[in-house]
Order: sequence, then C-alpha cells, then structure tokens
Amino acid sequence: MSFELPPLPYAYESLEPHIDTMTMQIHHDKHHAAYVTNLNNALKDTPAASLSIEDLLKEISKHPMAVRNNGGGHYNHSMFWQLLSGKGGGAPTGALADAINATFTSFDEFKKTFGNAGITRFGSGWAWLCVNGGKLVVCSTPNQDNPLMDIADCKGTPILGLDVWEHAYYLKYQNRRPDYVAAFWNIVNWDEVAKRFASAK
Ligand code: MN
Repeated sequence: MSFELPPLPYAYESLEPHIDTMTMQIHHDKHHAAYVTNLNNALKDTPAASLSIEDLLKEISKHPMAVRNNGGGHYNHSMFWQLLSGKGGGAPTGALADAINATFTSFDEFKKTFGNAGITRFGSGWAWLCVNGGKLVVCSTPNQDNPLMDIADCKGTPILGLDVWEHAYYLKYQNRRPDYVAAFWNIVNWDEVAKRFASAK
C-alpha cells in the first residue's frame, strides 16, 4: 500500500484569475506529487506504511522528519484542493456562519484574523481555521505542519487551510502575499468548509 496523488477536482485554469494556471500545474503536479513520492519513500518497508494519513499525523513525533514534512505536505494539499472552487467565494451560511459570527463577531473580522495568520506567518507555512473542543480557532503552523499533529502548537481539526508557501503564489503575486490572501476569499468553497465543520463538531 502506498499513498497516491489525488487528481485536482477541477481544471488547472478554473481558479483564474485568483490563482493562475501555471501555479496550479506546478503546485499540484510537481510540489504535491513530490510530497507523495517522498512520503512513500520515507515509509517504505516500515510498519507505519500501513497507517492512514490521519493516524500518521496524530503521532508524528514518533516518525522521522521526512515523514513529518511529506506526510503533512500530502495531507495539507489534498485538503487545500478541495477547499477551493472557481464557483466559490461569497460568505458561509447556516451553522458555520453562526459559529463564525459568534466567535469572531462578524465574517469580516474572521477574514481579518485568518488573513493575518497567513500574512504574518514568517517564512513558509499555513493558516488554519480549526474546530477544537467544539470551538472555532484560527492559528498558523510552520512548514508542512498542521493542527492534527501531536507536535503542533495549535491543535484541532482543520476545516479551512491556506497555503502561504511562496510556491503557492509567487508566479502571480511575487512578494505580495497579502494580495494572494485577499484573492483567496474569491475561491473558498464554503460548502466544503461547512461539511468539514459539521463532521468535526
Ligand atoms: Mn503548497
């Protein structure tokens, strides 16, 4: 058994103009593919090779750094593709909207808090919206860490994530990470976030 690169759930160009086609091609076909290959190589002939990705992450401290970096990279990107849609954007509705308003006072305040988590992450990493103990929390992690990992500073079940590695935006936005973060809101697949929120609660 080994991990596989999931296909993008839409065409490379479908997130234009917010995320450009070439970034999507390189990000999925090269970066994500490399995480999968390197994860499989790191796990080869070890008992951990039969674990699910979630089980691997929750005891990641027991594994070598190559498993942490590439296992996180595989999980994070598999989730990220699902969270985006060319038909996305707008605002959440229903129970998720209620929880965001109750926690952050408004959707705009939530966007500020989440956006700042991404913008202020030094170097490479991710911004997250998580459910922890039934509550919504925003945080960020370095590198390919995520809140499912036992070593993470912020814990929880991630329901929205934003990749702020330069490879995610540099071709189109160069050093303007805040512009990429602003564009992200136009392509968030809130139906997918709501689904993850419902199952994480
Ligand atoms: Mn990435």
